[in-house]
Amino acid sequence: MVKIDLNWALSEAQRCLLCDDAPCFCGCPAGVNPKRFIRKLRFGNIKGAIRELRGVNVLAGSCSYICPCQNTCMGKCTSEKLSEPVNIIGIQRAICEWELANGMVEPESSSGTGAKVAIIGSGPAGLACAAELANRGHLPVVFEKGPAVGGMLRQVIPDFRLPTKMLDLEIEFVKKLGVEFQTGKDVSSPSELLKDGFKAVFIASGQGASKRSGLNGEEKNGVYQALDFLKEAKLNA
Ligand code: SF4
Ligand code: SF4
Repeated sequence: MVKIDLNWALSEAQRCLLCDDAPCFCGCPAGVNPKRFIRKLRFGNIKGAIRELRGVNVLAGSCSYICPCQNTCMGKCTSEKLSEPVNIIGIQRAICEWELANGMVEPESSSGTGAKVAIIGSGPAGLACAAELANRGHLPVVFEKGPAVGGMLRQVIPDFRLPTKMLDLEIEFVKKLGVEFQTGKDVSSPSELLKDGFKAVFIASGQGASKRSGLNGEEKNGVYQALDFLKEAKLNA
């Protein structure tokens, strides 16, 4: 198995054809253009590569562990000039792990509009929305009913699939953008927030229920739904 580190990433980046109208870009649901961060890496501009990634996708580090890349960016990297797709997700991970080891590349400040926006839920959608709003100069406040920020990323995905320290770094980054987090806050009436001075409310409560199989007996004792099982396992790890 390939050892993913910066040296490997620099070598893998050389295989990228830096295509015009890069097809890998069309495959990324988060809007990341791999050609742009790969080009920066090739020129040795690692901090620039991180800024490129996180400017578009604030969870670029987390995504570099869990994206279904064969069906997204890498699934579109099919040039006949390549024996196999460029390992985009591996390069992305190597860059983000470099940051984890060497310290956060801090965000640049943006001028503020002062508009307060409430976000209910601190999972991927809530975090991404908060970062985007903060980048545009607004003042997002994220309300999380649980004790910690991160939603499914923190509660469900095992550490061996997504290291918690990567998620923690990305949440710290969102805080540095100026986002306020309030944990232990269960918002029962979003419209009340509008009366409290918020200009808008974004509901990012997520999909917390497992998909049911419909098989006989799935309600019986000892049968666990996938998300409940993973939550329980992570809590007791
Ligand atoms: S499609 Fe593949 S070769 Fe082309 S820019 Fe994207 S990663 Fe590079
Ligand atoms: S690894 Fe994920 S975030 Fe990165 S380019 Fe591919 S699909 Fe987009």
